[in-house]
Amino acid sequence: MNYTIAIHGGAGTILKARMTPAQQQAYLDALRASLRAGNTILKNGGTALDAVEAAVVLMEDCPLFNAGRGSVFTHDGRQEMEAAIMCGRTLDIGAVTHVSKVRNPIRLSRKILEISEHVILSGEGAIAFGREQQVAFEEEDWFYDDYRYQQWQKALAADQVVLDHAGQKFGTVGAVALDLHGHLAAATSTGGMTNKKYGRIGDSPLPGCGTYANDRTCAISCTGHGEFYIRGVVAYDVSCLMEYGGYSLAEACQKVIHEKQPALGGSGGLIAVDSKGNMALPFNSEGMYRGWAGKDEEQVAIW
Ligand code: ASP
Repeated sequence: MNYTIAIHGGAGTILKARMTPAQQQAYLDALRASLRAGNTILKNGGTALDAVEAAVVLMEDCPLFNAGRGSVFTHDGRQEMEAAIMCGRTLDIGAVTHVSKVRNPIRLSRKILEISEHVILSGEGAIAFGREQQVAFEEEDWFYDDYRYQQWQKALAADQVVLDHAGQKFGTVGAVALDLHGHLAAATSTGGMTNKKYGRIGDSPLPGCGTYANDRTCAISCTGHGEFYIRGVVAYDVSCLMEYGGYSLAEACQKVIHEKQPALGGSGGLIAVDSKGNMALPFNSEGMYRGWAGKDEEQVAIW
């Protein structure tokens, strides 16, 4: 049996010319740390679920990413985070939306997967559940980042809802893994889109849209303009093309990211691993912060 993990830190208009070598290095280092955290768990025989959770937790704690600590601001000047984690063996999934002050929304999602009779919890209810389960909370200043604040001020002035990829900062984060026991898992965490309004929910916490795992096919975590990923039911579409259409992982990803999403108008990408350990990290945007690792390799890349 082999094991493998892939991660992303968002896809979008990431212009090489606008990033200094030092910035690039900081991002690549952060990706590598997250990748190693997950890969070490897999190497030691741990579960894919533990590996994707650990990889995402590190990116949630890193202010470079639009998840957890570095989450973008909503129209009302708040951070409303979303996350989901799914087990390919059991098809159990736990997800949260509209949570503030939760240090690691992916850990809260994992508690929902394991303990709650429900799949998705939102807002105050999700927070009450998190307090019962003793997940970590932080004060608002933990989440404050001046870059995010300025980004929001610009979006407010232009009255635009902005994907976090139009600048130099990372976006949404995610991880997918196959463990030594042959099981798959996927996890995604995000602050959503800058200046989002009216309790907008993106694709990340929605099963089959931004996050999906099924041992029969693959594990997927998406990043990009969420509305299009919801309309395309992207993660489940890739899985369905494999399960019912006989597509390989690469063929299914090609179809969805390079044909169906562009036709709909959706820009972004995804990371995927199948039950045989094949990987795909396609994107139709300028770049996607990403990394992949297994027994004998470890790679991180942006463009
Ligand atoms: N897909 C996320 C959303 O629409 C954004 C992202 O991938 O950065 O909420």
